[in-house]
This record gives sequence, structure tokens and C-alpha cells, in this order.
Amino acid sequence: MSRTLPVQKNEYIDVIFEDLTHDGAGVAKVDGYPLFVPNGLPGEKAKIKVLKVNKGYGFGRLIETYEKSPYRVEAPCPIYKECGGCQLQHLSYEGQLKAKEKQVRDVLERIGKLDNVIVHPVLGMNEPWRYRNKAQVPLGEQEGGLIGGFYQQRTHQIINMKECMIQQEKNDEVVQTVIDICSRYGVRAYKEGNHKGDLRHIMARHGLVTGEVMVVLITRTNDLPHKNKIIEEITSRIKGVKSIVQNVNSKKTNVIFGEQTKVLWGEEVIYDFIGDIKFAISARSFYQVNPEQTKVLYEKALEYANLSGEENVIDAYCGIGTISLFLAQRAKKVFGVEIVPEAIEDAKRNAELNGITNAEFAVGEAEVVIPKWYEQGNSADVLVVDPPRKGCDEALLNTIIDMKPKKVVYVSCNPGTLARDLRLLEDGGYKTVEVQPVDMFPQTMHCEAVALLKLK
Ligand code: SAH
Repeated sequence: MSRTLPVQKNEYIDVIFEDLTHDGAGVAKVDGYPLFVPNGLPGEKAKIKVLKVNKGYGFGRLIETYEKSPYRVEAPCPIYKECGGCQLQHLSYEGQLKAKEKQVRDVLERIGKLDNVIVHPVLGMNEPWRYRNKAQVPLGEQEGGLIGGFYQQRTHQIINMKECMIQQEKNDEVVQTVIDICSRYGVRAYKEGNHKGDLRHIMARHGLVTGEVMVVLITRTNDLPHKNKIIEEITSRIKGVKSIVQNVNSKKTNVIFGEQTKVLWGEEVIYDFIGDIKFAISARSFYQVNPEQTKVLYEKALEYANLSGEENVIDAYCGIGTISLFLAQRAKKVFGVEIVPEAIEDAKRNAELNGITNAEFAVGEAEVVIPKWYEQGNSADVLVVDPPRKGCDEALLNTIIDMKPKKVVYVSCNPGTLARDLRLLEDGGYKTVEVQPVDMFPQTMHCEAVALLKLK
């Protein structure tokens, strides 16, 4: 089989990298056959060893770089290679922004068949480190004590991580303090192998503006040894803590959260601001992890919606109502839809908290609720979608096409599904006017983008 391919397994060849994969590996082509090579950067000339050949693509290892990319830098994080949480630390930030712009443009052309769409340069951060407001740390044991860290790539081994350079410092402090406390009270780390132990994960959430902290202890069973002592010490040692929550996950699974969530101490939520709007955030709700860039993203969505105050707006996949409440300041009425009931409770509370009375929220699947609204004779002037990575359900896109809102603002965390969905909307009568990528996840390959579509 491999005889018909342009490269052979174990062969050493010279290549020029043209591109990056979605997980940050370099892409080189030999007679059109793509080879994925970790650590290769676009523009670099290198010698590689071919490790594996499949029918349509292969993998290689970087042996020697003859010509380095001008954007190559030394990754500043000491555990960058083992961790795998970041993929682009070896690329300068300028290089990262260029790569993400290219990624968006390429998929819009390749998957969306959108040839002349305007893609603006990526809006990046001034300081692209220490931005995450949420840490989710799996636990292990070392020398009889607890450690928190990450799974070494392709293993179930936990590597000790005392700090993470894309995490807000406060979260590192919270996690290390909770580990120290639990360790001293003899709490055992959950072990996947025999499904024993107490504590599976620690989650920390930090409101950047308010300084409020939530600690979530994800345990195997209801019990946590010395629970009250642990709570007491967390409250006395961690400044800003407002909420301590336990989530019980008794299943043999690598999904982090279980179904049962209860408040152990303090409030059920913490608060934070994006712009002027205050948000209540509960343990299980989705909340954007980069608050500084979230503001940039939402302002762009608001600009694209270009509201005059007369419009009815639908915000599909609204989470805790973040975009909805941003839009409500300028719209006649906003209707938010979201599948997680707790998020909708938060959304309602958030509307109230900000004195916003022209926003309504409904629980359900966007692809079920919005078609029902449409059948009942309701429509929207502007429709915003912000789906998860898999993009919008086709039933929702078809309803948008029937409903004919004048504008669609598509907020996307996955350029590939964005491109696919834009194609469907284009075929249904919309024109993609422009696309603005926003860098919500510096040092990683993830890329967020907002697209403005108008009815033709
Ligand atoms: N717009 C929000 C949330 C975006 S994340 C924000 O910016 O904060 C995507 C959201 O879609 C999540 O809250 C998720 O729970 C929700 N979701 C996932 N599938 C859904 C579906 N089929 N219908 C409605 N909401 C869905």
C-alpha cells in the first residue's frame, strides 16, 4: 500500500512547512501528500523522519531545522512540552495571530467556499498570558501528599503543576492552597484504576473585576473526610472566597462533573463584570474563560448587530445571558435560548441584577425552541448564535433561512463548523459581509470569530 505513496515509513526527507494543524503541528506536503510534524512552523525548512503513513496523510518527527521561522521563540513555560494544554508557545504572539487569521481564511475558503469574504486581522491581547478565569485541575498523589496538575500527554499520569502561565495568578494560588489543606487532612486523590479515593478535581473560578472566588470540590462520593475543617480553612486562608461547592461524580468516567452539585459554604454563585454588566456565575454554567477578550468579542457582536432600539433580537445558545444582556441595552426585546436550566436561572437573575427588563429566557434546544417560536408567528430582526464547537444544528439554520432576520451575527469557537454553517446560510439567501477573529485563547490553537451576515 505505502509503495504508491510519495513517502515511506522511516524515510528521512527534507521539507518546508506550509501550515499548522488545528493542534499546532507543522504541515508539510510531499507531492500533495500532507505530513503532520509536531513543532514545525510555517516557512521552516527541516529534515524530518517519517514515522507513520496513512492513506491520505502521514506523521513525522522533526530531526533538524535548517531555516527557522522568524516567529519562532523559546516557549516560556517549563512544562510546555509535557502538558499539551498550550500548542503555540514556540510561536511568537505576532506569529500566532497571523496563523489564526490564516486558519480562519483557509477554512472559510475550503469548507465554506467563500472566496472573497473579508477576514480582518485577529484582535489579540496586549498581554497574552495569565488570562484564564477558571482552572480545572485533576489530582494525583506524590510522596504521600496530594498534587494537582495535568495528565501527561497520552497517559493517565498526573504531572505536578504549581503554576500555569495562561491561568490568572489567583487561580494558581487557590488551587495550591486547597491542595495543601486537603493534603493535610488526609484526603486521598481519586484513582482511575481502582475507582477509589476521595477528590477527583478541584475547580477554581475567579471574577477578575470583583476578585470573588469560587472553589468547587469534585468528589467520588458524598463524603469528604474532615469536610467542615477543610471548609473552615479554605475560608480563612483564601482571600475573596465567596462560594464553596461540592460536586459528586461517582461514575467511572473522564468527564469531570457529576450530576449532583451542592453548596457547602457561602453563595451559590460568584459575580463578575463584563463591561458595565454584572454577571452571576454558578458552578456548572458556561462562562467565557478570558474576560478581557470577551468584552472585545461582545462589543464586536453588538457593533455587527447595529441596533437602533426598535429590534427584536434572538440570542441562541445564550448561556447565562451574557450576549443577550449586552444586546438588550440597545434592542427593543431580546429572547435568549439555552439548553442548561441552571444557566437560564443565572440569565434571569443577571437580567434582574442589572435592571434589564426587556430580556426573556427559555430553556431548551435552540433547534427545537426557535422553530416553535417561528411556527407561533414570532420572528426576529437580528439573530445571534454562539453555539458550542459542533456548530448549529441544521434545523436551526433552516429556521433562520425561513424566518429571514435581516441580520445574523454568528459567534463561533470553531472556524470549521462556522464555515460549514455559513455555506448553508449563504445558500439560503444570506451574504457573509465580514468576519472578525478574536483571540480568546492565546498560546493555544483555539480561535474565536464573529461573522456578520445580511439577508441578500
Ligand atoms: N453565549 C454564551 C454561551 C456560549 S457557549 C456566552 O458567550 O457566554 C454555548 C452555549 O450553548 C453553552 O451554554 C451550552 O450549554 C449551550 N448549548 C449547547 N447546545 C445547545 C443547544 N442545542 N441549544 C441551546 N443551547 C445549547
